[in-house]
Amino acid sequence: MKMEIKGIGASPGLAMGYAVIYQKFEISIPDTIPEDVDAEIKKFQSARHESICEVTALFDKMMKDGAGEAAEVFMAHKEILEDEAGFVMPVIERIREKSENAVRAVAHVLNSIVDIFRSMDNEYMQARAADAEDLRDSVVANILGIQKPFMKDNLYSEKKIIVSYDLAPSDTAKLNFDKVEGIVTQSGGTTSHTALLARTLELPAVVGAVGLLEHVKDGDFIVLDGETGKIAVNPDKQEVEEYQKRKDEYIKQKNELREYSGRRSITLDGRQVRLEANIGTVSDVQTAIDNDAEGIGLVRTEFLYMERKELPSEQEQFEAYKRILEEMGDKPVIFRTLDAGGDKSFPGLTLPQEENPFLGYRAIRICLNTPSLFKTQLKALLRAGVYGNLKIMFPMISSLDELRRAKILLEQAAEELSAAGVPHRKKLSVGIMVEVPAAAILADCFAEHVDFFSIGTNDLVQYTLAADRGNPNVADVYTTFHPAVLKLIASTISAAEKAGIECGMCGEAAGDPTLVPLFLGFGLKKFSMSSSSILKIRKLISSLNYEECKRMSERVLQLNTASDIERILKK
Ligand code: PEP
Ligand code: MG
Repeated sequence: MKMEIKGIGASPGLAMGYAVIYQKFEISIPDTIPEDVDAEIKKFQSARHESICEVTALFDKMMKDGAGEAAEVFMAHKEILEDEAGFVMPVIERIREKSENAVRAVAHVLNSIVDIFRSMDNEYMQARAADAEDLRDSVVANILGIQKPFMKDNLYSEKKIIVSYDLAPSDTAKLNFDKVEGIVTQSGGTTSHTALLARTLELPAVVGAVGLLEHVKDGDFIVLDGETGKIAVNPDKQEVEEYQKRKDEYIKQKNELREYSGRRSITLDGRQVRLEANIGTVSDVQTAIDNDAEGIGLVRTEFLYMERKELPSEQEQFEAYKRILEEMGDKPVIFRTLDAGGDKSFPGLTLPQEENPFLGYRAIRICLNTPSLFKTQLKALLRAGVYGNLKIMFPMISSLDELRRAKILLEQAAEELSAAGVPHRKKLSVGIMVEVPAAAILADCFAEHVDFFSIGTNDLVQYTLAADRGNPNVADVYTTFHPAVLKLIASTISAAEKAGIECGMCGEAAGDPTLVPLFLGFGLKKFSMSSSSILKIRKLISSLNYEECKRMSERVLQLNTASDIERILKK
């Protein structure tokens, strides 16, 4: 049947092909009581070892497929499988003391981990519940000795669109990516595992497509638009031709952008800027390099704290930071210290339940209050700094006092390393995120105490306009085009310029083609964005005239409404 379904665009691009419906594996728990407890424990242990081998093999395959970010979930799976206190012992205890069969005991212990993720007030962590369910199904299938059904054999014969309720990490890992054109799922949001993986592999994807499985059957012809979230089911010939044209145009544009790799980011009249990447995991570095990032303008270090019950050790952090620095060579890498709280919660960090978490206990506030947590990270960073061009940045700074205290702890961390004779970086640039209006208003004072600013528009907009960045009900209030926001950005850039310090921007607005000419006109010289935007923005910069942008930005600052500003910029 011909129809259109609307979902959420999760990974850009147009894809077409025949639908392959992937059915989820349903586990059924037997009621049996084990006759021989030791044999049952043995059964559990060998299934566990089998699962360890499977996740290790999947990790290797994903790394080979160039999906490093998505591969990391399998390392997290392996950690759970090898966690004696949190997984192995509780399962054995249930078999021994409660006479549960191995399937029931495993399902019980892993379901409680699923429940923890599911109860978290954070879309990202909730999405991790599906990962834990996947792990549970894998161990259970191995205990029962059944093959986990996966893709139909015909999947690999020609290009297909995978259609599913949701895709667990191990499902996606088994896909032969050469034969998959795109992915559509009925559930999930833009931070779901499917979305992350699709973006890493540059596969068009639509998630959250309500009613998908009701209407789409195996073999239906599907066209999906990963930008708008539109899915056309069995479109007619004319529509398909139309889509094909758009797809060709999209691919052509993408290939044309490759020309901008290896070039300078410079305007027609010779103003050179830097285009850097925002990254969230170690494996994102490769995507940044592939897109010719001139540095890393933001490492969101939170990735090390996710999906685990204990906090990462200094050594573990050191190794991750060192890898990032080494891979970037002499290019600058700005590590932002832990930005927990707000919309980011972590199982290893117990935070109070708050009425208003974005205005609550978060980021630098937590770190200053928990010096051991903060100093562990600072020491790991300083040690890693020996291996590359390290810069450290503090998030959510709202007062000079906070900055002073953060710098004292950084000095103490360095002193403790010196006293222990541990090699570490002695001289480095220290900066702050300007993402709270107080910091923007006092930018001239802050500029005397730091080496650089990085403007975080994502938070600066929400705090300036009192509009939650994730709340769809106030999405129209939340706008970077608001004159109050733009005035704060402009004055922060000029305060930095006066003081002779660097000023960059790492909020989403830095990669927005409508706003880039304006920020360039304000005098911004460093733009940090998702890697996939870099070449597009370099092409844009190459077509701009800085002096014209400057005059335009002066005119924009005279305007009093967001709608007027948006209209002018979109002309
Ligand atoms: C920002 O607030 O603009 C920013 C880059 O930080 P995050 O999105 O991680 O809060
Ligand atoms: Mg922020």
